[in-house]
Amino acid sequence: MRSFVHTQPSTRVVFGTGTFDRLADEVRRVGARALVVSTPGRHQLADEAGRGLGVLLAGLFTEAMMHVPIENARAAREAAARVDADCAVAIGGGSAIGVAKAIALERTLPIVAVPTTYSGSEMTPIYGLTEGGVKRSGRDVRVRPGTVLYDPALTVSLPPRVSGSSGMNAIAHAVEALYAADATPISSLLAAEAIHALARSLPVVVKAPANLDGRADALYGAWLAGSALAIASMSLHHKLCHALAGAFNLPHAELHAVVLPHATAFNAEAAPEAMRTIADALHVPEAAQGLYDLAVAIGAPLSLEEIGMPEDGLDFAAQLTVRNPYDNPRPIDQDGVRALLDDAYYGRRPAAAAALRAR
Ligand code: NAD
Repeated sequence: MRSFVHTQPSTRVVFGTGTFDRLADEVRRVGARALVVSTPGRHQLADEAGRGLGVLLAGLFTEAMMHVPIENARAAREAAARVDADCAVAIGGGSAIGVAKAIALERTLPIVAVPTTYSGSEMTPIYGLTEGGVKRSGRDVRVRPGTVLYDPALTVSLPPRVSGSSGMNAIAHAVEALYAADATPISSLLAAEAIHALARSLPVVVKAPANLDGRADALYGAWLAGSALAIASMSLHHKLCHALAGAFNLPHAELHAVVLPHATAFNAEAAPEAMRTIADALHVPEAAQGLYDLAVAIGAPLSLEEIGMPEDGLDFAAQLTVRNPYDNPRPIDQDGVRALLDDAYYGRRPAAAAALRAR
């Protein structure tokens, strides 16, 4: 076994159908004046949470936006200050959790997260803020939610296409955690089991969105994938998605779903052990092709074209991606990234590893 450094993050996880009813008990453990944060789309759930919190509710902020524009972060911080919140309850996907993190970054208050997508942000100390069209992200232990309440019943309303994309976003955390330079035996275990759980549950939940066993399994996978993301650093796939999302305002989960098979193919030869683990977890012979086939099976988007990427932006996207050097199993070169983007733009099925080698 090679040497490693592992820091074990600690989060209280309350998991199970019906656990949403225990929100007030969980909030009482960390605070007495909660600001409930959600996106406009989840405001009814935020209202319901507020009613359940009773005297523990200090206020609601239901205007959370994706990628946390700095003005949105400021508005949320002002709301927290106005009601003198001593904790934040984030209800929803990565966007609501991201805004609660922006509050915690400045106000240092505990977060109770109630995730309703598979983004995994609830498990990580990673935050993002967008200013002047550029998204900056960082790691800070103050933003990691101390309590996470996973109730699969809250995810049955996720439409099949969103479930599929969000699930592929979760798998992307696990894939990159497997070949990260700072992967540890624990992050690799989490990542492999995450892919296994998501690959078996996503086809179930897109076919039968109200299947609670499938929803619980998918949420379990998302939890593990987020836990791996909290430990291991991300590489080309995440950098590429970050650059594309910022420059072309593309939807987060859908973008991850499209790019993942191609970023995996790019790294196939340089990370053979990770590829074997991914393929085994998917029960297929080939990691990149297996991820593409899973995306097809669950109705996730396959091409950058269909999610709004302009074709004449591909050269610029490749330039952006190679601009800052970062760890990746295979060295990053502009021609290689441009070819990857071309495959992703047209949604081509990745070639088998042997064919990639011959390119
Ligand atoms: P999201 O939170 O924006 O949710 C997408 C849409 O789905 C929203 O309109 C939301 O209201 C709706 N929605 C959420 N849950 C629903 C449900 N159960 N039923 C029906 N509709 C529902 O999207 P996301 O993909 O979860 O999160 C994306 C954001 O999270 C991005 O800003 C991304 O950068 C961030 N993120 C951060 C991390 C991290 O570790 N910091 C990890 C992953 C994602």
